[in-house]
Amino acid sequence: MRINVNEIIGGRRISQVPAELDISDIVRDNPGVISASRATATVDAWGEGEYAAVTGKLACNLELVCSRCLAAFDYPLEVRFAEFFQLGRPGAEEDADDDDDRMIHVVDEDVIDLDPYLKENIAVNVPAFPLCREDCRGLCPVCGADRNVQDCGCQTERIDPRWGALKDLFDQ
Ligand SMILES: [Zn+2]
Ligand SMILES: [Zn+2]
Repeated sequence: MRINVNEIIGGRRISQVPAELDISDIVRDNPGVISASRATATVDAWGEGEYAAVTGKLACNLELVCSRCLAAFDYPLEVRFAEFFQLGRPGAEEDADDDDDRMIHVVDEDVIDLDPYLKENIAVNVPAFPLCREDCRGLCPVCGADRNVQDCGCQTERIDPRWGALKDLFDQ
């Protein structure tokens, strides 16, 4: 989706504009993501002083690999976003406005492509260690069985031999 930052700063409002974007990069960049639907966005934008404020909601469906049991599972993702754009003035220093903790993007062109900013909002919200469910029991480190499915009975809570030696010391 493209927007004209200059027009928005000048007073043009965008309200609830739907957009769709291809987020297949997210599959390429994240080993834990097997597939991703196209994302839908609803975008609002308005001028705020010398900034264009762009906010909205993104939604997509991801298929992730559980980081414990390696099973694939569906993960609907919804993200609210807010991005701020300012037109770069030639020769002006980029002012670091420190009392404002919003991330303001200084852009040179009036018309910008929002998609990279929207994709970034999805990318940062993809879980780094996805879990098929909160209490996933994972794979057995001894025999590899999926412990959500079967109880293999392996002894996995062995004491590290070094701690064992320490324990002997304390027992003396
Ligand atoms: Zn799992
Ligand atoms: Zn086992």
